[in-house]
Amino acid sequence: GEGDVATVLDAYKALRECERAWFDQRAGSRLRASTLMAELDAARREVEREHQLRDELARAHAALTIESAERGARAEALYRQAHEDALTGLPNRRDLAERLCAERRRGERFAQPLSIAMVDIDHFKAINDRHGHAAGDQVLVEVARRLQQALRSGDLVARFGGEEFVALLPDATHEQACALGERLRRAVAAAPVPIGRGACAVTVSVGVMTCAGDDTNDVVLARADARLYAAKTAGRNRVIGESGVPVGANAHDRVQA
Ligand code: GH3
Ligand code: MG
Ligand code: MG
Repeated sequence: GEGDVATVLDAYKALRECERAWFDQRAGSRLRASTLMAELDAARREVEREHQLRDELARAHAALTIESAERGARAEALYRQAHEDALTGLPNRRDLAERLCAERRRGERFAQPLSIAMVDIDHFKAINDRHGHAAGDQVLVEVARRLQQALRSGDLVARFGGEEFVALLPDATHEQACALGERLRRAVAAAPVPIGRGACAVTVSVGVMTCAGDDTNDVVLARADARLYAAKTAGRNRVIGESGVPVGANAHDRVQA
């Protein structure tokens, strides 16, 4: 009857509504899905860009590290050139002057003694004349090595000039410094220095000086030089300190014998 038609119509309407709702929902989730995909894409691009930036940063950092290492090496080479003697590898006169200043201040502050020993090769001109300049250079290198080896660990020996060396002896009293000077003299005289196919007897004279509070570098060095000169005039191959008398008198004669 009529009621049946109405029921069917209602059911049909309800079905259409359901269908519409379902379509709407599907469209909505499609939209959400595509929004999500877009967001995911953006996030992925962002991560990629971040990796790129991190790589660039790492490369720039590596380049900078190399550059600063090179700059450091150049600065070190320059410093070495300015403070090291090229022939012997010892600290040079400038380096000695700087260290002597520093050690004088330190000695004064801590009330510790500070001494120096000025060492000059005897008749070096004759060695050059007899064996040649290259042999003379070999002697300089070997004497430098022997002096360095004879010193205590906290001491330092510098090449002060042509065939002159200065040992800086922190914390050494005058007596100890004279003993060290004698050790240096013996270390050089102990055995002939090999040159070319032969060998050559080498000796040094030494002047020892102990700093007083207000002495300047120049005063300390001049006084050591005066004692060195006294050692030369007293016959060379000997050590003279403030007493003016060769240290361990005649000890070197036994070594020579
Ligand atoms: P003394 O015992 O009085 O010290 O006499 P000496 O001959 O050692 O002293 P002098 O000052 O007359 O001569 C030093 C010589 O050292 C003169 C110089 O040609 C030489 N000399 C200086 N520097 C070098 C160097 O780097 N290599 C060489 N082979 N000789 C040098
Ligand atoms: Mg000399
Ligand atoms: Mg000299």
